[in-house]
Amino acid sequence: MDTAYEIQASFERGDASALEIVRVSLECISRLNDRYGAFVSIDEEGALTAAKRLDHARATGSHIGKLAGVPVAIKDNIATEAMPTTCGSRILREFQSTYDAHVVTRLVDEDAIVVGKTNMDEFAMGSSTENSAVCKTRNPWDKQHVPGGSSGGSAVAVACGMVPVALGSDTGGSIRQPASFCGVLGLKPTYGRVSRYGLVAYGSSLDQIGPFARDSRDLALLLSVIAGHDRRDSTSLRNARFDLAAKQEPDLSNVKVGIVDDLPAEGLDSCVQDAVSRMGGVVEQRGGKRVVVSLPHLSYAVAAYYIIAMAEASANLARFDGVHYGERYANPNNLQELYEQTRGTLLGDEVKRRIMLGTYVLSSGYYDAYYLQAQRVRTIIREEFASAFDVCDVVLMPTAPTPPYRLGEKNDDPLTMYLEDIYTVPANLIGACALSIPAGFTDDGLPIGAQLMAAPMNDGLLLNIADCVEQTTDYHKRKPFSSAGEDRESR
Ligand code: GLN
Repeated sequence: MDTAYEIQASFERGDASALEIVRVSLECISRLNDRYGAFVSIDEEGALTAAKRLDHARATGSHIGKLAGVPVAIKDNIATEAMPTTCGSRILREFQSTYDAHVVTRLVDEDAIVVGKTNMDEFAMGSSTENSAVCKTRNPWDKQHVPGGSSGGSAVAVACGMVPVALGSDTGGSIRQPASFCGVLGLKPTYGRVSRYGLVAYGSSLDQIGPFARDSRDLALLLSVIAGHDRRDSTSLRNARFDLAAKQEPDLSNVKVGIVDDLPAEGLDSCVQDAVSRMGGVVEQRGGKRVVVSLPHLSYAVAAYYIIAMAEASANLARFDGVHYGERYANPNNLQELYEQTRGTLLGDEVKRRIMLGTYVLSSGYYDAYYLQAQRVRTIIREEFASAFDVCDVVLMPTAPTPPYRLGEKNDDPLTMYLEDIYTVPANLIGACALSIPAGFTDDGLPIGAQLMAAPMNDGLLLNIADCVEQTTDYHKRKPFSSAGEDRESR
């Protein structure tokens, strides 16, 4: 499938009808979804109806939106009226939202066509999409490997060419890490830039919705559509808009790229390290300067993140009690049993673990020792990044310490899985923007991502740098398989 930019342009020129474009997307989904498990709901009828309406609008000379005819996929924790919003959980198996999330309304206002909802770790808790109660999602570069998570389905949908762009959510890396594992781009915008209205909350002070795409131009296009102030999200920024017209010519001559000299490197795979250094070289080749920065407390980021995320999750998930939302245990003897049985049987193990740990770190006697301490670490990390951003414009580091790993490999060991988030969680802790760009491949042909992080509201700078990098490298152009969908079945 072409990029969103190309699709919109060819629709606007009249080279392709929306119906044709949507049929290509639906056909690709029906051919590949059983194998890769990207989508959990597909709205074929809704997409075809929207396409026909759009074709009619063009024929009658009506205004054509910035995403006219572009098929998009939405992570299943973002509310949609047309399809269920399961959050990858049994407790919301049939949950139907009565309204669209702000981002969905924005996409539809610009004439994008929502084709389906994508698989994810239950309530966005995880890094491999293996915590989904709905289906298994596989990495298109090698079916035996995980696609990353928690927005694994969205990353796979874009990598397979089922859709040119998709939305995910990122609380501690859930857009960037699956983007890196699937060889596509993923952006976590500045906290407050994109409204969270209609996003099922996980860690409210960390959550942010953002786009997946196959190049930086499409990421910028998507951001320009979904960013903007929304009074229904109290953390939405007043100056949240992202104006595409203000985008500068890609030029790196004044850009200083921070390389972290005390980067925690335990568990960092050498092929990832090499790919990220090469990426530093590319930036330098294009005129950027490398400067050294220090972030001495980075190794505490994972601990602080998990304490804060779990604490917030324990409060946010209290609403799934069998009374307010979703499924309910059938024959309770009393209210206590209704709560216990509903939550005990319908929530997955990882979600229950986090609710319990989150409740624990907030409980009297432990609050000071854990939660407050984590918030202090968060402040220190914010201050260290502020000092780093005094001497550099962006920080370059790996997105994940390893390439995609095998399905099941880390499932029994939550701690190892948590430690994998070391490079992505800092951006969420400090509200900064960050993106992952394809930066190379392992000897086995699995994708590797590099991460660029900038101070809040510098999303445009990140996209500019990615644009420059794309003019020098072609990693983002590689596809996991031919358009006929042949993959390396045998491995
Ligand atoms: N892997 C991290 C976690 O499990 C991040 C998830 C996310 O960003 N939603 O919490």
